[in-house]
Amino acid sequence: MSAGLNKMPTVYVSIGSNTAREKNIVAAVATLKKHFGTLRISNVYESASVDSSDTFYYNLVVGFGSDLSLTQLATQLRQIELQQGRVRTAEKSPQVSIDLDLLLYGDAVIDDGALQIPHRDIERYAFMLQPLAEIAADAIHPVKGKSYRSLWQQFDKSVLNQQCIKNFFSKEDVMEDYFAKIITAIGEDITREGLLDTPKRAAKAFKFLNNGYEKNLDDILNGAIFAADTEDMVIVKNIELYSLCEHHLLPFIGKCHIAYLPNGNVLGLSKLARIVDMYARRLQIQEKLTKQIADAVQTAINARGVAVVIEAQHLCMMMRGVEKQNSVMTTSVMLGTFRQHISTRAEFLSLINNNRATPFG
Ligand code: ZN
Repeated sequence: MSAGLNKMPTVYVSIGSNTAREKNIVAAVATLKKHFGTLRISNVYESASVDSSDTFYYNLVVGFGSDLSLTQLATQLRQIELQQGRVRTAEKSPQVSIDLDLLLYGDAVIDDGALQIPHRDIERYAFMLQPLAEIAADAIHPVKGKSYRSLWQQFDKSVLNQQCIKNFFSKEDVMEDYFAKIITAIGEDITREGLLDTPKRAAKAFKFLNNGYEKNLDDILNGAIFAADTEDMVIVKNIELYSLCEHHLLPFIGKCHIAYLPNGNVLGLSKLARIVDMYARRLQIQEKLTKQIADAVQTAINARGVAVVIEAQHLCMMMRGVEKQNSVMTTSVMLGTFRQHISTRAEFLSLINNNRATPFG
């Protein structure tokens, strides 16, 4: 995020901990988020303490916009340290619950002895420079006149003794950071009021819209297959369907109709809707979605036949590209008897055409 785009200076803070490290780092990031809104969060690195090789730190860097003065900001960071039980001592390699060091404050250059901005150790220590170069690669060191990417490229890696701890934060944290980047890339100001919590909300929404990846057929079917000697067609019409097209990440919205011919077993009715949701809440194309639903029903109850029709409107067609607002795409998959017998297929199609609701209706 370049400083020129924002009204507020972008602040970078190095976070470190050598005791109850994961808990302390997660708590500090959560507190900073609460105070400052969306954060850019680097990976977490583990390295031996500068003072002692038997103490190991976790370190990362976060960036955020803040309209606090430098003094207010420094005070706030000290308060967060205190809340997390930090005691500053003269002791070498003490127990450090949390250490929050101000690295950068916009393009400010300050040296009043106690406070030096940019932080005096930025390019000396990998635990500051590597995570900073990750989230502020193109920002320029206001004194050196070099980007943090190039400072990191010049760093002597032969003495490097730290490793990246992957997957430290949740998927939502990672997505939040990416959404902030996307919003900035379109030319928006991520620090303006209306957008402050947008990356967080967008990440939460996107996770929900794709929660089908966290589900599987066995869990959904659990206990919902019943023996039944009926041979008549079971049909459920107008199951609402919301999915995201895998080409544009834009919604397609419509209705799904499912029919099957039992072969000794039937499926709890709500389960058909849950099967639709499980596959729809993934990145999809309508053809594949239709087939997955049909195969799942077939697998679940070994039906004599399964028919699935999906009618949907695609926002990637309506809002962009050809801008065909009223086109409805219809896909169908017929298995077993529905495929073999034209009369069975015709019966199903006439049943769903009867009083058919429009996808948005
Ligand atoms: Zn699309």
